[in-house]
This record gives sequence, structure tokens and C-alpha cells, in this order.
Amino acid sequence: MAEIQLKSLAHSYSESPAGPEDYAIRQLDHVWHKGGAYALLGPSGCGKSTMLNIISGLVQPSEGEVLFDGQRVNELSPRERNIAQVFQFPVVYDSMTVFENLAFPLKNNKVPGARIQTRVAEIAEILEIADKLHKKARNLTADEKQKVSMGRGLVREDVTAILFDEPLTVIDPALKWKLRRKLKQIHEQFDITMVYVTHDQLEASTFADKIAVMYDGQIVQFGTPIELFEHPNHTFVGYFIGSPGMNLIDVERSADGVSFGAVRVALQEWQIERLQGLASNNIKIGIRPEFIELASGAAEGSYQAEVLDMEDLGTYKIITVRLGTQQLQVRMHEDFEAGIGSRVHLSFPPQWTMLYVDEFLVQEQS
Ligand code: ADP
Ligand code: MG
Repeated sequence: MAEIQLKSLAHSYSESPAGPEDYAIRQLDHVWHKGGAYALLGPSGCGKSTMLNIISGLVQPSEGEVLFDGQRVNELSPRERNIAQVFQFPVVYDSMTVFENLAFPLKNNKVPGARIQTRVAEIAEILEIADKLHKKARNLTADEKQKVSMGRGLVREDVTAILFDEPLTVIDPALKWKLRRKLKQIHEQFDITMVYVTHDQLEASTFADKIAVMYDGQIVQFGTPIELFEHPNHTFVGYFIGSPGMNLIDVERSADGVSFGAVRVALQEWQIERLQGLASNNIKIGIRPEFIELASGAAEGSYQAEVLDMEDLGTYKIITVRLGTQQLQVRMHEDFEAGIGSRVHLSFPPQWTMLYVDEFLVQEQS
């Protein structure tokens, strides 16, 4: 097990990249600490698999270094790096039995026979394939094959880290939930550094203590699920995390804050000060549907909005309102009632009104 550090890492699949758009990984620095349970979350094509393949050694980065416990490993082969990697689609030897498949990585590493027996039994038990050990892999269902594939990653005790690249894609939804819990349990039991790639925020937050959100070849935030929810560091994190995501509104500078159309949004003193120091006119405010408040009347600092739609989601409602030129989504209590076309008064609590300049969060200076 090791700490994995990525130092000034960048990668382009093109031999002569013309600009940032030719990079699958744009220059980044990142540390995966020893023993952590991490998720790497982002949309398809943002560079997740490229990053895993660079860590395991399947891809040589065009720039920067990969360090394991402070030692450069760029020149080491995947085998020497000793990373277990589980892919989206099962990698099993069809002609071997489940037992032989699981034992294979251990045999390769000259683990004694008795230890192989107990370790394979242990992993098969956890993955609930103990009764399949003597079956040929070719006779397994797709789900079972992927369990074997995961087992092959989990069986080794000496690995630097285990990297999972969207491993539950082919798994039946009901089993998905169970396997995710199992992985978490395995992490707690064996304390191995694990990086779990997914494009599903729910999957990321149920597995990981900390999530790296990747967007367009960059890690735009690395934080706990709560940090990502409460203080999205980038508009993409606001939009991608949450259901629905954060309301993001293009605004202009105004005397005591910012405005969009005729709507003025007062900001906190420190936000105004920081904004004055920034030249860009790419300014947005962000507020989550959960944090917009319903005001009882036209109080100061409240806005009148028109209800356009209301979606009843059982324990809560999502209403869509028009405020000036913008449509916003607001999460309301299940008892909330308002007719389509009726007026409501909303307010934006200052502590939940985020300011973004050039898509990044403007933070209070400490
Ligand atoms: P993700 O796993 O997040 O979906 P990838 O790391 O697979 O993203 O891909 C990142 C970007 O690199 C994408 O634009 C993809 O098309 C490109 N890419 C991935 N693999 C290759 C390759 N072998 N050759 C050229 N381009 C690639
Ligand atoms: Mg991928």
C-alpha cells in the first residue's frame, strides 16, 4: 500500500498537442493518501480512465511524474508497480475455474498454496461466489464474471492500491448496491488504498470518504460529499452534484453586489471586496434548490417569482419558478402548495449564495 502522488501531470494522446483542448489530462497535482477510500467522479470523456491507466502504468503520461511513497515510478512497468485494476468489463480466463481465476494473481506472486486456499475462500465468501469456485468461468453469468474480475483485484494482499474503473456498469441494479457496500466493507476490513471511478454521484458518495470531481481533464474539487454539496469549488461541481443541481445565474456587477435583469442580489461584504479585485466579467451566482427560502411576503431582500411547474417527489417537491429572466428550481417541503402561475416570495440566504468568477468559487480569505 502506498501514497500515490501525481506531480505536474498532463497527458495528451496527440503527439503534437496544439493547445489545452488536445489534452485528456490538463496539468494537475494530486495526492491519493495511503489507505483512503476515494472516488473519481466525472462525466464520460473527462479523463478518468486515462488517469487510472497512468497510475497503473498502462499509459505513459506525456508530462509530469507519478510517485509512490515519494519515489518516481514513471519508468516502472505495470507489473512492477503492483497495482490491481478492475475494469468496466470482466477480465477472466474462460477456460479456468473460478478458483483458478482467483488464485492466478497469487500464484504469479508465488504465494504459498495454503495461503492461496484461505485467501481465495475469504474473497469468494465476501463476493458470494463461494459455491461457484469449481465452475468454469465460461459458464458464469455476466454478473458473476464481473464478481470474479473484482475478486482477482481484491485477492492480492500486497498491492500498492486497487483501482476500480466503473466496475459495476454491467451489474444488475439490485446487485450493484450490494456490491458497492461489499467494496466498502472490504476497504474497512483490509485498509487498502482504493480509487473508484464512476460517473454516478450516488455511487461515489456511498463508496468514498473523499471524492475527486473531474471535469475536462482537471480535478476541480477534492472533498467530502458534504463539502462538495455545501461549497462547490467550481460551477461544474455545483451543477453535477445534487439532484437537481445548483441554480447558476449569469450576473453583472452592481453597486452593492450583482444583478441579473432588474433583480439585484446583495452579496456579503467580503464577496463584494473580493469581486472588486477581479477583472473578469464572467460572474455567476450559485444557490442550491435546497437553500432557497420561501418568504412569507414581500419582505426586504425577498424576490417575487412566478411558479411555472411543481414536481411531487414524495417526501419533497421541486418547484420551478421564473425570477426575472431566470428559471430557478427550489426544493420545498412535501406539504407546500401553490398553483401554477401563482406568485411566491423567495430569499437567498447570504451564507448559501455562492459567487463564481471564471467558474471558480470566490472564497473568503482566511
Ligand atoms: P473517461 O474515462 O472519463 O470517460 P477517458 O480517459 O477514457 O475518459 O478519455 C479522456 C479523453 O481522451 C476523451 O476525449 C477520449 O476520447 C480520449 N482518449 C481516451 N483514450 C484514447 C486513446 N487511446 N487515444 C486517443 N484518445 C483517447
Ligand atoms: Mg472511462
